[in-house]
Amino acid sequence: MSRSAHPAGPRYADVLPEGHYSAPPADLNQLDQGVWARTVARTPEGAVTVGGLDVQQLAEEFGTPAYFLDEADFRARCRAWRDAFGADADVFYAGKAFLCRAVVRWLHEEGLNLDVCSLGELTTALAAGMPAERIAMHGNNKSSEEIHRAVEEGVGRIVLDSFQEIARVAHAAAALGKRQRVQIRVTVGVEAHTHEFIATAHEDQKFGLALAGGAGGAGGAGGAAGGPAAEAVRRVLQLDSLELVGIHSHIGSQIFDTSGFEVAAHRVVGLLRQVRDEHGVELPEIDLGGGLGIAYTPDDDPSEPQEIAKALRDIVTRECEGAGLTVPRLSVEPGRAIVGPTAFTLYEVGTVKPLDGLRTYVSVDGGMSDNIRTALYDAEYTVALASRASTAGPMLSRVVGKHCESGDIVVRDAFLPADLAPGDLLAVPATGAYCRSMANNYNHALRPPVVAVRDGAARVILRRETEEDLLRLDVG
Ligand SMILES: *Cc1c(COP(=O)(O)O)cnc(C)c1O
Repeated sequence: MSRSAHPAGPRYADVLPEGHYSAPPADLNQLDQGVWARTVARTPEGAVTVGGLDVQQLAEEFGTPAYFLDEADFRARCRAWRDAFGADADVFYAGKAFLCRAVVRWLHEEGLNLDVCSLGELTTALAAGMPAERIAMHGNNKSSEEIHRAVEEGVGRIVLDSFQEIARVAHAAAALGKRQRVQIRVTVGVEAHTHEFIATAHEDQKFGLALAGGAGGAGGAGGAAGGPAAEAVRRVLQLDSLELVGIHSHIGSQIFDTSGFEVAAHRVVGLLRQVRDEHGVELPEIDLGGGLGIAYTPDDDPSEPQEIAKALRDIVTRECEGAGLTVPRLSVEPGRAIVGPTAFTLYEVGTVKPLDGLRTYVSVDGGMSDNIRTALYDAEYTVALASRASTAGPMLSRVVGKHCESGDIVVRDAFLPADLAPGDLLAVPATGAYCRSMANNYNHALRPPVVAVRDGAARVILRRETEEDLLRLDVG
């Protein structure tokens, strides 16, 4: 048996990557407006407030760690997307970013539709009164139960992701005596990440059906004669219990420009044209998915919904005119771009450990159980001392959690005031998306609450887990 030991400790671990953090900001107390929820501010005494409420009082009332969500900001973002796309398009909020019944009600009131991708999300949506016809069901491996329930409830569309699923949904709809509206999810050979996208010949991922393949070859417009997507269209059109309403494409996440969507729309319209030529039908809908980026740090510069809507509409119109097609109804599915910027996580500092010549490790009372994105994706966040202002100089810090794992990092590189001390409150902005929804019980951590704040009032919309909750699942 062979064993190897790795030298442990920060001196042997990662060396500071070049350019991973920028110079300290001129004013550590300043809150960058692009990164924080709209109603976040500092009082003259120095404490951070949201919706007019001081984080010190919020921490006292709701404890830490906790997510505080700016309801006015959430609703404003819903309206901005809704207004930007207008009456001839649909905005589906991607529920996986963050979903609870209060959020469903806000979406309903603000006129948005909702994407779900599991029975749990569907149940939450229906329990909060979202009309089934405004729900779309996603997922690459929907169970028979999920499919049956979605069809039975009458969801507005099911997005088909495989040949097996075409048969399963057709079967469920037939058994229930229904005709189910469906879209086919295609992979267009575009992968977008943050500031760049890659157009690939092969769609090496689990989602969707490839446009490319067969006689048409990869990549070109309409070059899908023999591709799986074209074959899926053929099969769906033959099934009486399915109504094919459109083609769906989702190219990635945290995207900052529309060039990836341009390639995707070009290729999707190529398929629409082929469908018309082959079957004599013009499909009425095109869904370009979500993935629009937000500002996690002041370096990120996302576009406004107005600009995105105009760009996507122009692209689709141009492509369809070029192909001699009537412009289909457009839909988009922002998740992160709506909820991401609206919340911050509030933590209490437990320990401050300076490592000479390196940085200071600041331990907070949460970690990878409430925000796994740093560990999972090397995501970047910023952080601010929230319970008070400080005139101390900058201290290069790493904000870490309390879990038994050295990768338990919340903010890899941050400048915090050098007088930081146990008991101070830290706030990490832009944690509204994929933080609570990906939260876990590692080390039997209790998942934090989500507190909605609006006009000087705060209310829990998702309560903190308790030890009782943990023990209830453990049947002994
Ligand atoms: C995840 C997902 C979205 C939302 O992505 P965001 O990056 O949160 O905008 C939209 N559509 C589909 C199909 C998804 O899987």
